[in-house]
Amino acid sequence: TAVAERIAAGEVIERPVSVVKELLENALDAGAQDIRIEIRGGGLRLIRVSDDGYGIPASELDAVCVRHTTSKIVSFEDLEHLATLGFRGEALASIATVAEVTIQSRVRGSGDEDPAYWITWRGGQLQERGRRARPEGTTVTVTDLFYNVPARLSYTRAARTENGHIVQLVRRYALGYAGVRFSLALDEHMAVQTSGSGNLATALTEIYHLALNEMVQEIQASDGQHYVLRGYLGNRVLAQSSRQYINLFVNGRWVQSRILQDALERGYRSLLPKGKHPLLVLSLEVPAHEVDVNVHPAKTEVHLLQETVIAEALTRAIKGVLERSPAL
Ligand code: ADP
Ligand code: MG
Repeated sequence: TAVAERIAAGEVIERPVSVVKELLENALDAGAQDIRIEIRGGGLRLIRVSDDGYGIPASELDAVCVRHTTSKIVSFEDLEHLATLGFRGEALASIATVAEVTIQSRVRGSGDEDPAYWITWRGGQLQERGRRARPEGTTVTVTDLFYNVPARLSYTRAARTENGHIVQLVRRYALGYAGVRFSLALDEHMAVQTSGSGNLATALTEIYHLALNEMVQEIQASDGQHYVLRGYLGNRVLAQSSRQYINLFVNGRWVQSRILQDALERGYRSLLPKGKHPLLVLSLEVPAHEVDVNVHPAKTEVHLLQETVIAEALTRAIKGVLERSPAL
């Protein structure tokens, strides 16, 4: 029923930042090199993500907002070899249930005779569709978020709070995909802008507005079997009073993990003042069959087969780099 669908949608789409996350992942899955995000009213009034990715063929446009029709999981085996961020085929369907969604797209490499198309959904119902010229890529516009879910609407915090979550999210992806250009405008104010240079240290300085490149040290470690660690750790001077500046990616996916967080903390606890946390971006690559990220719809938890080995490697890496960095 419509109610059940709205409840299901609520699980995935908790707040405006959940919408931004899903749209961003879709753009990245489409191979975008340039992603522009526009937010108004904390995301309740408008969320728009434009990309220059491979686009959605006209024949598929009708189906992208229908639950599960796009699931990429064909067999159990596929779960172990996920190359894309999305795989449930339900994000757009969920969003279209609790908002108005317009998708405009033009397939990459399509000629003049194959123009761009758009389609609008509202409250799970198809509203309108048509053709309109546009550059290659896709723009998804979400307005009136939670208009039909009063409980969710009242739970949503002030625009400033929602914006804060969105900034954090976009920073994470901009770090995780340093080769992609990102821009985030909050009510027309440019909050994040990266060049997509592909250089993680450059991305780090662009995102946190650090002029001091030399205050960031490189991390590299591998046992040649279970893990490859790559990243950058801010000098002790850059230590923050919040864990929010710790960015950990596992196989390209930003994750939250108590165990890995504790392992990192064991590495820096004795070397930073109490209550301080480092500025850190760390990318962990592990063999696909040794990781499980399919734990929660939000997909941020991670289970690792070689947890102990990897935790110890994280502690060692952080400690090693911090010990070598000049003291305060
Ligand atoms: P999933 O990402 O899990 O497949 P979504 O509901 O997020 O499910 O998206 C449904 C489908 O719509 C995707 O699988 C993809 O084929 C298409 N799609 C969505 N956004 C884009 C985009 N920005 N560019 C190209 N295709 C897209
Ligand atoms: Mg998706």
